[in-house]
Amino acid sequence: MEISKELAEAINDQLNFELYSGYIYLSMASWFEEQNLDGMAHWMKIQAKEEYEHAMRFWDHIVDRGGRAEMKAIKAPATNWESPLDAWQDAYDHEKVVTERIFKIGELAESENDKSAIPMLNWFYDEQVEEEEQTMRVRDLLKKIGDSTNALFMLDARLGQREDK
Ligand code: FE
Ligand code: CA
Repeated sequence: MEISKELAEAINDQLNFELYSGYIYLSMASWFEEQNLDGMAHWMKIQAKEEYEHAMRFWDHIVDRGGRAEMKAIKAPATNWESPLDAWQDAYDHEKVVTERIFKIGELAESENDKSAIPMLNWFYDEQVEEEEQTMRVRDLLKKIGDSTNALFMLDARLGQREDK
C-alpha cells in the first residue's frame, strides 16, 4: 500500500529529527572530549551512529512505499553544557521528546489504519524505552556522584566500554 502524503511527511520530519539527534550527540561527544571524559565521548559517538540508523529506517520506509524522502536543513545543536550532569539531563529530555513525537506518528498511522507503518513504529516504541532508560540511568548516577572525581572517572570508564555494533 502506498503511503499517505500526510504520514510520509510526518515520518520525513522524524527522519530529520533523528539526524538532529545525531548532531546533538556528536556535539556532546566533542564537549566530553574537551572535558577529558573519553568514555562519555565514545558513548556519544556510538549513539550518533545509532541515530543515523534510526533516520535510515524512516528513509527506507518512505522510499520503499513510493514516497520521496526529502533531506531538509538540520538544526544546529547546543555546543556547551555546564556539567556532565547537564549534558546527560539534556540527552534524557531530548529522548523523551523523541518518544512523544513517535507516539504522535503512531496515532496518525493508526487513524489511517496503515498496517505497514504500525509495526515499523512499534520497533521504535521499544527502542525509545531503551533510549530513555540509558540516558536516565547515567543522569541518575551523575546525581549520586555529585563532586566525586573518582566516581566520575569510574563511570566514564564504564561508558567507554560501549560496543560499536
Ligand atoms: Fe533515535
Ligand atoms: Ca539504542
